[in-house]
Amino acid sequence: ADLYGEARKNSEGMEFGYSAERLALVDGMAKTEFPAVRARPLGKGLQAKGAERPVLSPADGKSIAGSVQEATVDQVGAIFDTASKGFERWSRTPVEDRAAAIAKLGDLLEENRDRLMAILAKEGGKCLVDGIAEIREAVDFCRYYAAQARVLFGEGTLMPGPTGEEDRYRHRGRGVFVCISPWNFPLAIFLGQVTAALVSGNAVIAKPAEQTPLIAYEAFRLLHKAGVPEDAALFVPGDGAVGAALVKEPRIAGVAFTGSTETAWAINRTLAEKRGPIVPLIAETGGINAMLVDATALPEQVTDDVIMSAFRSAGQRCSALRILYLQDDVADKLVAMVKGAAAELKLGDPADPATDIGPVIDMEARDNLMAHVEEMKKSQKIAYAGQVPDGAYVDGSWVAPHIIELDKPEALTREVFGPILHVVRYKAADLPKVLDRIDATGYGLTLGVHSRIDATVKTVVDRLSVGNVYVNRNIIGAVVGTQPFGGSGLSGTGPKAGGPAYLTRFALEQVVSINT
Ligand code: GLU
Repeated sequence: ADLYGEARKNSEGMEFGYSAERLALVDGMAKTEFPAVRARPLGKGLQAKGAERPVLSPADGKSIAGSVQEATVDQVGAIFDTASKGFERWSRTPVEDRAAAIAKLGDLLEENRDRLMAILAKEGGKCLVDGIAEIREAVDFCRYYAAQARVLFGEGTLMPGPTGEEDRYRHRGRGVFVCISPWNFPLAIFLGQVTAALVSGNAVIAKPAEQTPLIAYEAFRLLHKAGVPEDAALFVPGDGAVGAALVKEPRIAGVAFTGSTETAWAINRTLAEKRGPIVPLIAETGGINAMLVDATALPEQVTDDVIMSAFRSAGQRCSALRILYLQDDVADKLVAMVKGAAAELKLGDPADPATDIGPVIDMEARDNLMAHVEEMKKSQKIAYAGQVPDGAYVDGSWVAPHIIELDKPEALTREVFGPILHVVRYKAADLPKVLDRIDATGYGLTLGVHSRIDATVKTVVDRLSVGNVYVNRNIIGAVVGTQPFGGSGLSGTGPKAGGPAYLTRFALEQVVSINT
C-alpha cells in the first residue's frame, strides 16, 4: 500500500438490474423494525443526561425511526477529560493495530449493510441507490485511510542528505479532534472524518448532525466493536450549543467540519480567539456548482448527467449541480429534454427500489426550498415544477424537482440545497464572461464541462480553481482514492477527503535526528 492506495481495492457495488440481488436487499432491509435505535452519548463513563426525543421519518413526518438522548453543554469538560486520557494510550497504540481496527470497521459495515440501509432510508430519506453508494464510500474511507496510515505513521521515512546523521521524518496524532458532520452523508462523511482522525492517532469526539443521530450511533457501536477503545472515540449527539462548547474547549487539538460556510466561519472565529496552540480546521462546505454545455455536446449524455447531478439524492449533495449554462443554440432542445427526463423521476418511499427521489431532510429545508421557488417566481421563469404525489406521504418534507430559467446568473445568489436546478443561456462569444461569473461566486467545489472541443475544455479547466472538475460526465459521486474530493475558496480548506494528503492534516510532523 502507498499513499495513493494502489494496493487497495474499492468496495463492490451491487447490480439493481438483477432482481435476486435487489430482492435480497429489500428483504434484508425489511428485517429492521422501527423504532430501531435509541441513540445516546457513547464513551467511557459518559452518562446520558439530556431528555429523550423521537427521530421522525422525513417521508411522512410522523413514523418513528428511533430516539436520541443528547449530551448537554455541562458534560463537555468531562468528555474532554476522558478523551485526553484516551489519547495518551491510543496515540501510543501501534499504527498496525489502529489501522486494523479501522479496516475491521469497513468489514463490519459491509456485514451490517441491510440494517444500515434501512436506517439511512427511514431516518435520512435516502433512496436505495444513494444508500448503497454511501455505504460503499464509508467502507472505502475505512480501508483507504487504514492503508495510508500504515505508510505515514509507522517508523517514518529515513531522509536523504548530507548530515551524516540518521534523520527520520514521521507523523503522529495531534490530540483530541472534534468532528462535526452533516446530515446529507450521515454515515460516509461522519465516518470519513472520524476514521481519518483516529487512524492518525488522535482521540475523537464526534458530533453527528441533529437530524441524523441514529445512523451515526449505529456506526459508532460498530467502531467500538471493531476495537477502538471507548475513551479514544466518544459519540456526542447534541444541538448547536453542544457543538459550540466542544469547539471552545481549550484542550481541542483540531476540528474536522462539513456543513455550511457560515458555520465554518463561526468555528474559525472561535478557534482564532483562543489563546494557546493554533488549532487546524479542516472544513468542507458548500458550492454554487456549475455545468457548462456548448453546442458540440452530446444531448442525450448531457440530459442524463444533468438529471443525475441535479436531482440524485434530491439535490442534497454539496457536489450537486445548481446552475446549468447552456449555449443558446442548443438551449431550447436541451431544456426540453431535461424537463422530459425530470418528469419521469419517481418520488416515493425511499426504501422502494423503484424510487428515484426521496424527501428532503426536514420541514425547515422544505420550507426554505419552496420559499426560494416562490421568490424566483416573481422575476424568473419556472420552466418546470414537478408534483409531489399525494397520499401516504402528505405530511412529509417533499420537494419535487424544479427547473428555473434565470435571465442572468446573478439572479442566483446562494447555494440552494435541494432538487432545484437553475438554467442560464449564454452566447459562445461570452464564454470568458461566464467563467468570470462562476469565479466571482467565490465557491469552488465541483464543475462540469460538456464539450467535444479540447481547447474549450482546457480554457475552462485552467481558468477556474474548482476542486473537482468533471468533463463530459455527471458531477457527483467522487470515488475514494480515485477522485479525492473537496473544494477551495468558500467551499472549504482542503485537504481533499479520500486523497493522499488528507491524513497529514490530522497529524503532527516530527523529525528525529540522531547523531549515530
Ligand atoms: N462526495 C460527494 C460527491 O462527490 C459529495 C459530498 C457532500 O455532499 O459533501 O457527490
